[in-house]
Amino acid sequence: MSETTATKFLYDMSEGDASMKTILGGKGANLAEMKRLGIPVPDGFTVSTAACVATMEAGGRWPDDLWDDTGAALTRLEERTGRTLGGSTAPLLLSIRSGAVFSMPGMMDTILNLGISDDTVEVLGAEADNPRFAWDSYRRFLQMYGEVVEGVAPHVYEDELTSLKARRGVAQDTDLSIEDLQELVATFKDVSRRELGRDLPSDPREQLRRAVDAVFSSWDTPRARVYRKAHGIPDNLGTAVNVMQMVFGNRGETSATGVCFTRNPSTGAKELYGEFLLNAQGEDVVSGIRTPRELSEMEEVLPTAYAQLIQTMHDLEMHYKDMQDIEFTVEEGTLYLLQTRNGKRTAAAALKVARDMVEEGVLTREEALVRIEPAQLDQLLHPAIDPDHGRSPITRGLPASPGAAVGQLVFDADTAAERGVSEPVILVRYETTPDDIHGVIVAQGVLTAHGGMTSHAAVVARGMGRPCVAGAQGIRINTAERTLTIGGTVFHEGDVITLDGSTGDVYGEGLELVPPQINEDFSAIVGWADEIRRLGVRANADTGEDAAKARELGAEGIGLCRTEHMFMASDRLPAVREMILADSEEARAEALAKILPMQQEDFEAIFTQMRGLPVTVRLLDPPLHEFLPDLVEQSLLVQRLELTGGDADELSSARALLGQVKRLHEQNPMLGTRGCRLAMLYPEIPEMQTRAIVRAALAVRERHGETAGVEIMIPLVAFAKELEVQREVVERTVADELAAAGEELDVPIGTMIELPRAVIVADQIAAHADFFSFGTNDLTQTGIGISRDDAEGGFLSAYVSDEVIPSNPFESIDRDGVGGLVQIGIERGRAAKPGLKMGVCGEHGGDPDSIALFEELGISYVSCSPFRLPIARFAAARAVLSTKK
Ligand code: PEP
Ligand code: MG
Repeated sequence: MSETTATKFLYDMSEGDASMKTILGGKGANLAEMKRLGIPVPDGFTVSTAACVATMEAGGRWPDDLWDDTGAALTRLEERTGRTLGGSTAPLLLSIRSGAVFSMPGMMDTILNLGISDDTVEVLGAEADNPRFAWDSYRRFLQMYGEVVEGVAPHVYEDELTSLKARRGVAQDTDLSIEDLQELVATFKDVSRRELGRDLPSDPREQLRRAVDAVFSSWDTPRARVYRKAHGIPDNLGTAVNVMQMVFGNRGETSATGVCFTRNPSTGAKELYGEFLLNAQGEDVVSGIRTPRELSEMEEVLPTAYAQLIQTMHDLEMHYKDMQDIEFTVEEGTLYLLQTRNGKRTAAAALKVARDMVEEGVLTREEALVRIEPAQLDQLLHPAIDPDHGRSPITRGLPASPGAAVGQLVFDADTAAERGVSEPVILVRYETTPDDIHGVIVAQGVLTAHGGMTSHAAVVARGMGRPCVAGAQGIRINTAERTLTIGGTVFHEGDVITLDGSTGDVYGEGLELVPPQINEDFSAIVGWADEIRRLGVRANADTGEDAAKARELGAEGIGLCRTEHMFMASDRLPAVREMILADSEEARAEALAKILPMQQEDFEAIFTQMRGLPVTVRLLDPPLHEFLPDLVEQSLLVQRLELTGGDADELSSARALLGQVKRLHEQNPMLGTRGCRLAMLYPEIPEMQTRAIVRAALAVRERHGETAGVEIMIPLVAFAKELEVQREVVERTVADELAAAGEELDVPIGTMIELPRAVIVADQIAAHADFFSFGTNDLTQTGIGISRDDAEGGFLSAYVSDEVIPSNPFESIDRDGVGGLVQIGIERGRAAKPGLKMGVCGEHGGDPDSIALFEELGISYVSCSPFRLPIARFAAARAVLSTKK
C-alpha cells in the first residue's frame, strides 16, 4: 500500500477520556476525563503520542499535517477562550507539558507562560491589575524556554537571579520588586543572546512549535532512557504533549499552586497529605526554592478553594478507585486541577490502601488484589535498606535472593562459619559450591562474582531466605590477600558492606536496614488470595527448620525435599565417601547402614513439622563426585605426599581416593550419572533412603499419633523403564519395612519430569507414576540446551539486554518453549492417566509470571522456597483473576 491512512495527531481536550492513555498519554487522558466529569481544568489540546513517534521515526521531521493541525487546534482554543496567542488585547498564554503513557515523574520537560513577550507583558499586568505578576511570569518564561527549548545550561539563569537577590539583600524571589523583575527580564534576554549568539524567536507560534519539538526530544534524553529501562517501559511509545491555557498561581495572595495525595503515599493512611505555596508557579513547589506549606493551612488562607479541593480529591479517588496524586493551581480564588494520576506509593502503603479501600466498600477484594504488584509483597518480606539512604551502589549484580544484608567481608566459608556466629558477615566468593553451605548458613548475605539466578549460591540463599547478589559486575577477589576490588577501591576482610538482594545493588559501607513488615495488612491480603486461588502451594524444604518456616508461611505441604544436602553435612561426609569408595556390595551396605539413621533423623524432623500434610521426598539426585574432593586438589595432595615421602598409609588412601575421583570424573556432570541413573547403578541407595523415609514416618506417627503424607519421587527419569525399575525397588522396600513393623502406610510414588524425552513419553511414564512434578530448572536447562551454571554469568545476560529473549528463562519460565514442554507433558500424562496430579517444583514455582502460566495449563500445585510462599499464594490468586477477565 502506498497510501498511508491519516492518523489523528491532535485532540481537543473535550474529545478524550481516561481510556485513551495510549494516544493521549496519562496526563492528557486524565485531564480529558476530569473535564468530562465537570472538574475545573484549564482548556487545551493534546498532541498525540503518535505524532511524537512519527517525528522520531522521521529523524525529527514533523509529519506533513502536524503543524497545520496544531495551528487549527490553537485557533479553536483561541475561539473558546476569547484570547489570542501574542494578542495585544486579551493575550493567551500557554503551558506545554509532556505526558507519556506510563508516568515518568520529572523525566521530561515543561514550558510555562508561553506567549508572553514585550508586546503582551504590559497588557497582562494591566488585566490582572498586577504588573508584578506579569513581569514575574515573563522572567520565568525566558528561563524555562532558554533551558528547555534552546538548551542553555540551567545555572546560567540561576546565577543571575541569585546575584540580583544578593545585590538587593533579599532571600525570596517574591521579595524582588517590579523593577528588579524588569531588570531580570533584560538580563535574561542578554544571557540568551550571549549563550546562543542570537535572539530568542519572537513569534509565539514559532515558540510553540519549538516547545512541542523540545518535549518530543525530551523523550529521548539519557535520563528518560535510563528511567524507562529501570521500569521496563518500552522505548517506542513516545510522549504526548499537552498544550493548555495557563492558569496563574502567581497572580497574588489569593493565588497558589500545590501538590497533594488523597492518602499518605508512605504509610497509606487516609489523611491529608500535600503542600502548597501562595503566589507561586508549579516549579517553585517541586524545586525546593521556597519551602511549601502544609496543605491543611490552606483552609485558612483560601477557604473556598480548599473546600473545593478536598471535595475534588474525594471525587477523584472514588472515580478512579485508587489513591490519586494531584497537581492544582488556584488563580484568584478559583481552583483548577492540572493533573491527576494513580499515586506512586511504598509497598506498605500499597497494601494498606488496598485493604482500607476494601473495608470502605470502594473496591472488591478481587479488584484490590489486582492492584497490588507481587514485587511489592516481596519487598515487605525481607529486611530492606532504609529508603532514605541516599547513597550510590559501587557495583551491581543479579538480584538473586531478595532482602538486604549488612556485614563484614569474609572470603571463605570456614571463616564465615567461625566469625558469623558472633558478628554479621557477608560471604564473598567467585562462586559457591555445596561445600560452602556452612558459611552460607551463618552469613547475613552472599555476594558472588560468577553465576546467576539459579546458580548454587542463589538457590541455596533463596531457600534459606539469605539475601544474595550473584554475578556482580567487575569485582575482583583475591582470596590469598583476602581482598575485594571494585573499581579502584580495595576492601579487606572485615570491612563492612551492604547488599541489596532485591535489586542487585552493592554498597561499600554499612547502611541502615528496616525490618520485614509482615503486618496485618499483609496477612489479610494473602488471606484473600487463599480464598481465590485454585493452585495448591507447597514449599521446597530440606530441614525441619525450613519445614517449620514453610508451615508458618502457609505451605500446604512440601513439594520437594531434596535429599542431597543431607549427604553433604560434614558429619555425614565420611560415611558417604565410604559408601562411594566401597569396592564390594558388603562394604557399600555397611556404609549405607551408617547413613540410614542419620537420614531417618532428618526425615523425622521434617515429618514432625509437616504432620497431616503431604511431603514429597526426592531420592538422591547429584552425581557422586560432588561428595568427593576436587580432582586437581586431590592430585596435588598425592603429588605432595609422594614428594615429601610422607606417611605410607596416608599416601595409599589419598591415592585410592584419587583413583575414585578420576573414575567418577565426568566432563558434563549435569548430564551425567545423576538422578535415577545413579540409583539404577546402585539400587542400594534408593533402598536405604526408602527405609529411612518409612521408618521416620512410622516413628513420627508413633510419637505424635499423626505423621506426614509421605510421597517418594524419582528424579531425572528419561525412560519409562527407569521408573518401572525404581518403583519396584521402592515398593518392595516399603512393603518390607511395613511388614517388619506390622504397620500400614500409603506411599504414593511419582517422578520428576525434567527432561524433554520424559515429556515426549509422558504417557508411558505416567503408567508407572502416581504423580508428576515438573523440574523446570532442569527442563529449562535441557529443553533450551543451556547450562544454568555457565549461561547466566555468560551470554544469557547479553541475550536479555539485547532483547533476544524477554527475560532470564531460569527465573521466569520461557512460555513458548519450556512452557510448551510442560503443556505437552501434562496433556500426554493425563491422556494416559486422567486426573494425574501434577506439580511444579523448579524455581519457577515461586515466580508470579510463571505461576500465571501454570494456572493456565492446569498444574495442580506449585512448590517454592518457603520465603516465596506468600508471593506464590498471592500470584496464584492473581492468575485466577486474570484468566477470568
Ligand atoms: C528442577 O530441575 O527443576 C529441580 C527442582 O531439581 P534441581 O533443581 O534440584 O535439579
Ligand atoms: Mg532437577
